[in-house]
Amino acid sequence: MQIITSVSKMQAFASGLHAQGKTIGLVPTMGALHAGHVSLVTAAVGRADCVVVSIFVNPAQFSPNEDFNKYPRELEADVAKCEAAGAQVVFAPPADQIYSKGFSTFVCEDSLARSLEGVSRPTHFRGVTTVVAKLFNICRPHVAVFGQKDAQQVAVIKKMVADLNFAIEIVVAPTLRESDGLALSSRNRYLSTSQRLEALAISRALFKAREMVEGGERRSDRLVAEATHILGQHRRIRVIYVSLVDADTMEPLREVKTGHSIMAVAVWMEDVRLIDNIIL
Ligand code: AMP
Repeated sequence: MQIITSVSKMQAFASGLHAQGKTIGLVPTMGALHAGHVSLVTAAVGRADCVVVSIFVNPAQFSPNEDFNKYPRELEADVAKCEAAGAQVVFAPPADQIYSKGFSTFVCEDSLARSLEGVSRPTHFRGVTTVVAKLFNICRPHVAVFGQKDAQQVAVIKKMVADLNFAIEIVVAPTLRESDGLALSSRNRYLSTSQRLEALAISRALFKAREMVEGGERRSDRLVAEATHILGQHRRIRVIYVSLVDADTMEPLREVKTGHSIMAVAVWMEDVRLIDNIIL
């Protein structure tokens, strides 16, 4: 297992692998790794000769009022998890390696990134696409794995890859959940026991939508109303959005498009922002 912290060393390492005809799998993360991240590494291990996990808390995707400073950082434990999952490299650059002084070039997806998360976090996806494009150029992967947990991020990255002709296969791994339904997230550690219990309403609302669709419901307004009702029973939850959207375009749907619709939810659980989604 190698830990690489410099951009030039990572580029040299990737060039070496390319020269040997080896394939590279990249799993971009912000660290504080949990079993959901590990499942992405496992998916990459089965698809590439060498798996690189990047660990970088990307300042560009946080707005000034967000949790960048308090975001959990635990490199040593993360490295052990990556190694156990079969990754060969952890790429963990300091911020000034990625954003050198005077950095002024950004990658913006200008359509899908505007809805849902983009409404309340207008610069978020600009930060994501910029850092992911940089990671693609530095690590030169053949395949990159992302989690369905961030469904809009998946759609935006796929669009960027198509629009900018990155020759990289994007693999999407399913959302890993706790046995009670809560989607694993690095931010779950901010939740108190009672907040965590109430946060279960998010997955309950999504599972109810799935149940309704299985029972024949197609109409978006009814699915959204029921999910909103379930969330609304909790005084500490503030709904940011509940929406049924097309999985590729992120445009709102009137009716379920079987297998291509996403019910996406974002809430504030007091001061913790949580997102989740389900494919319908
Ligand atoms: P993050 O460290 O939060 O930026 O997440 C890194 C990657 O892990 C992203 O592609 C996420 O979508 C993915 N991820 C986060 N939570 C989960 C989860 N519960 N199940 C599967 N993938 C996840």
